[in-house]
Amino acid sequence: MLSPSVENLVAQLTRLPGIGSRTAQRLAFHLLQAQKEEALALAGAIKEVKERVRFCRDCGNLTEDELCGICLDARRDRTTICVVEQPVDLVSLERTAEYRGLYHVLGGALSPLDGVEPEHLRIDELMHRVQSDGVVEVVLATNPNATGEATASYLASRLRDRVRVTRLASGLPVGGDLEYADEVTLGRALVGRREM
Ligand SMILES: [Zn+2]
Repeated sequence: MLSPSVENLVAQLTRLPGIGSRTAQRLAFHLLQAQKEEALALAGAIKEVKERVRFCRDCGNLTEDELCGICLDARRDRTTICVVEQPVDLVSLERTAEYRGLYHVLGGALSPLDGVEPEHLRIDELMHRVQSDGVVEVVLATNPNATGEATASYLASRLRDRVRVTRLASGLPVGGDLEYADEVTLGRALVGRREM
């Protein structure tokens, strides 16, 4: 029904999270009707992030340099590391303005059923940072769902002898993602973190 290149665009858009085939078609037609520069600006932005953005050497956050802005910021408290699953969680925690320490992005959560074992996450890097960098506290801010809790328990068992280990306070929507918690709730969970 559609030309092969339009079909291809719809197929590519359908692969994005939360985009069904109807929405993909609507977006494709929008792009076809848009000014050429506008459509190509989107294509260019995608190309640019894929070429430029990489993971921070120390914390795993997204950056265009070797180290991210947070790791480079001399005002951050270097004795505390907050462990999150994905860069998006770091963004949510930063938005609360309640946290002044550093982060560590794991790149996911433990999920043996899906084949995600400790060696697939940036856990060795975390252990290394905790051992060498004068870290006093590790805040476990993995998601309050099954895989996030399992990951927090696993990390707590490995870290507890070396450093103070805390977990975000309950009150976050159970089974959800940090990403969807509002700033006030998340900030409160951070301030009220408990020993683990
Ligand atoms: Zn960093």
